[in-house]
Amino acid sequence: MSYTSSSPDGLPPVQMNNLKRAHAPLQAELKAAAARVIDSGWTILGPEVEAFEQAWASQAGAAFCVGVASGSDALQLALRALDIGPGDAVLTVANAGGYATQAILAIGARPLFVDIDGDSLLLDLEALRAALSPGVRALVVTHLYGRMAAMPDILALCRAAGVPVIEDAAQAHGAAWEGRPAGGWGDLSCFSFYPTKNLGALGDGGAVCCSDPALATRLRQLRQYGWQPKYHVQLPGGMNSRLDEMQAAFLRVLLPSLEAANTARRQVADRYLAVLGSLPGGTRPVRPAAALDVAHLFVLRHPDRDGLRARLLARGIQSDVHYPCADHLQPGFARRVAQLGQAPLPPAGALPHTESACAGILSLPCHPWLETGEVARVSDALREAWQ
Ligand SMILES: *Cc1c(COP(=O)(O)O)cnc(C)c1O
Repeated sequence: MSYTSSSPDGLPPVQMNNLKRAHAPLQAELKAAAARVIDSGWTILGPEVEAFEQAWASQAGAAFCVGVASGSDALQLALRALDIGPGDAVLTVANAGGYATQAILAIGARPLFVDIDGDSLLLDLEALRAALSPGVRALVVTHLYGRMAAMPDILALCRAAGVPVIEDAAQAHGAAWEGRPAGGWGDLSCFSFYPTKNLGALGDGGAVCCSDPALATRLRQLRQYGWQPKYHVQLPGGMNSRLDEMQAAFLRVLLPSLEAANTARRQVADRYLAVLGSLPGGTRPVRPAAALDVAHLFVLRHPDRDGLRARLLARGIQSDVHYPCADHLQPGFARRVAQLGQAPLPPAGALPHTESACAGILSLPCHPWLETGEVARVSDALREAWQ
């Protein structure tokens, strides 16, 4: 994918993301926040982190928020907080970028993949019901592309089976199901503040939210070597994974704009949706009716995905694929599973809806900083390139 390619009319390409534009309106506040941290001389786990944790817990509808170094660490810490370890079986989907699988394998646990629903591309409830066998220690459910999975049904199934639920809400800041926010449903929820997420820092960051005070205490210990008190390691599985003061200060500046940014993303998505509706066979994954979409990504399906991408690029429109390779078919995961002495991952064909999605999806530029003219260019190019 050429970053510098320009469209036939000489305009710069429409980009998947543009962080310079994202930060420009808040530049003065961001610089003031950085100066505040530098002047304070306090860099790790201090007042900025505490203030952000409180604000984020309330945004996510949870009692507690524990700031950590990344979304990937958040997933690992959530699993460790539930005392999940080597050999334990954890359910997840295989079409969500591999982050949950990576965390499960990092702690030596065993990922068991549940197929997705072919229309929503989210966890399939019947497949979940079938997968909830005795011995399953947790479910990691991803709210993919900005849409929440059906948490009331998922929780009902998992509660009946005695299986705790971890939400991966790294693509769902501000999303909701019947008004209740992503992150406030499961036993634990994980967020990433990677710069291109709906709420992104100016570097890496993440958080785990929960409403059980005992879990929150464990998380605070686990993110700092398992210490309690300082220098005394009480818990197995401790890590160094802390949110720093600088990133927390930036996040406090950016948080008040989240809702407006989400609205802007939805408006872009609505424009593309209108275009798709007029194209033969144009489909976008179906959004569950109860879900408030925060349009983290605008994903659509096309029978000739790679051809469409090439034709879009020729018209100056970037695109991407989220994600091209299902987790059970990733060579690095297969090798990790072998290292751990686990049974091999399922073969190609084992997760038909997941695999067919990976082969046919593409993502269009969908972010709050697209100009109206750029959204129109993407829309026109989509019509011309569709065939
Ligand atoms: C980005 C992302 C993560 C990982 O977050 P990092 O901060 O990059 O480690 C986890 N899950 C999902 C669904 C993501 O989109």
